Amino acid sequence: MNLLLIGPPGSGKGTQGERLAQRLGLEHIAAGDLLRAEVEAQTPLGRRVSELMQRGDLVPDAVILGLLMPKVLAAADANGYLLDGFPRSVEQAVEARKLAEQAGASPNAVIYLDAPRDELMRRILARAEIEGRDDDNPTTVANRLEVFEEATRPLVDYYRDRGMLHIVDANMDEQAVTDQIVAALDGVCAG
Ligand code: AMP
Repeated sequence: MNLLLIGPPGSGKGTQGERLAQRLGLEHIAAGDLLRAEVEAQTPLGRRVSELMQRGDLVPDAVILGLLMPKVLAAADANGYLLDGFPRSVEQAVEARKLAEQAGASPNAVIYLDAPRDELMRRILARAEIEGRDDDNPTTVANRLEVFEEATRPLVDYYRDRGMLHIVDANMDEQAVTDQIVAALDGVCAG
């Protein structure tokens, strides 16, 4: 089974991505984590994207596609993937779909983690204390939420129209959210 996990910053993509990947035996591929690793290692790609990430803007489509797609296709060939934080725009979804379809690596379902804005803010600012991410400060978070509304939210209609969307209430404790997702996936067959 191949899954996409999308949602606003702070909705729990990383946490649920890890939990679900383990529970379902899928490879967890987190777009933001892969980008942060490049920045950390100061690779040419990392240097190219660090300022954009610090501002909370999206990195160019070609960069994220180039970084993710080889991993996505390889995971689809193995036990399947759970992709978190990608796509973040309809353009990315369309491009990825072309590449995945050719390789027989299309997603079977899309999980959308939904939570109210004040809860997202609360979680991100709490996480900032623990993880110290550069982009978890109030100014950048406001931009990330705006980028989400403009670029990413249209994916909800895009995937709903394709009958792939499962909206999950992410404003609950971790275990309850995981259980909801697993229940929503009941009946989504591998293939
Ligand atoms: P995340 O860890 O998912 O919150 O992502 C952190 C940052 O990485 C985002 O604010 C973007 O700057 C960048 N990023 C992550 N995923 C993508 C993507 N699919 N497309 C473009 N930029 C991304």
